[in-house]
Amino acid sequence: MHKVLVDFLYSSGDGYGIFDAADQLVYANPALGDIFALPTDQLIGMRFDSIVRYCHQHQKGLKIETDDLEDWLLYAAQRRRSVPFRIFEADTLDGRWFLMSEQCNADGAILLHAKEITVQKQLQQALQVAEQQLRHLANTDELTTIANRRSFTEQAERVLLHQDRTDASCSLLMLDIDHFKMLNDEHGHLAGDLALQFLTQQIKQHLREYDLFARYGGEEFVVLLSDTPAEEAIQVAQRIHQQLIDQPFQFKAHQLCIEVSIGVAEHQPGESLTVLLQRADQALYQAKEDGRNCSVVAKPNIV
Ligand code: GH3
Ligand code: MG
Ligand code: MG
Repeated sequence: MHKVLVDFLYSSGDGYGIFDAADQLVYANPALGDIFALPTDQLIGMRFDSIVRYCHQHQKGLKIETDDLEDWLLYAAQRRRSVPFRIFEADTLDGRWFLMSEQCNADGAILLHAKEITVQKQLQQALQVAEQQLRHLANTDELTTIANRRSFTEQAERVLLHQDRTDASCSLLMLDIDHFKMLNDEHGHLAGDLALQFLTQQIKQHLREYDLFARYGGEEFVVLLSDTPAEEAIQVAQRIHQQLIDQPFQFKAHQLCIEVSIGVAEHQPGESLTVLLQRADQALYQAKEDGRNCSVVAKPNIV
């Protein structure tokens, strides 16, 4: 029976080792030697801390990520033997990952088992990257690369909750390009697309990093200005109008002046995003009625 077990452990692809109560390695199979980058005849007899020091000093075997090795060893010593059984992940300097388990018996000896999980870890990392890319795609408008309506709604709701807690005022701008259909009809859909990208860049210049800016629909944009009362929000809107006068959109040989109508609404305490958007939309409608290329501030709702 003993030989069967020893032969099995010797030829196993999993690493096996036994530390005695004094933390000296009394058994290691070749697979474990491979993890610590030491042949088993050198490894056996070494204390746990000497193995770690060896790996750290020679930058071989187990990856020890620390600026303070003594601190690392102290932390490891606290964890080892703290529970009868524990599992953790560890990686080696050659890029392999292992699921390690330490089984500690009553007299303090530890059976260490290391199962290679590099493939699973790589898959998990690839999945995380794919998930991040998907989240980015789901939240981004493809043409302008700014946030889309979905992402705006999600973030704006959080901002409004925060503003309510801090009693600060924030304002919403709803912008719609004037006679955009005409630009498309006269210069083609590509010109329209480029105009949307151009406008995005022009608006961005007047926003702060923490303002929310999104393409809300076809040629409609929204901006949520944090900590900004209506008087200041209207100034931002005026600056955007001025910017579009100063900076015409160049398409082929044409200088096209893009004009927008803007509805401005200051958030009222406790007001939902839906109602705030409705008021900004009404103000935008009013701006269109007033002849376009202008901004209108929404009246507060009587609460
Ligand atoms: P108004 O001043 O009343 O807003 O008039 P408008 O022409 O801007 O508004 P309307 O709603 O009649 O037309 C909007 C146009 O925007 C029609 C649609 O083809 C165009 N549009 C929407 N999304 C895109 C896009 O992604 N690219 C291009 N090129 N055009 C778009
Ligand atoms: Mg529109
Ligand atoms: Mg329009």
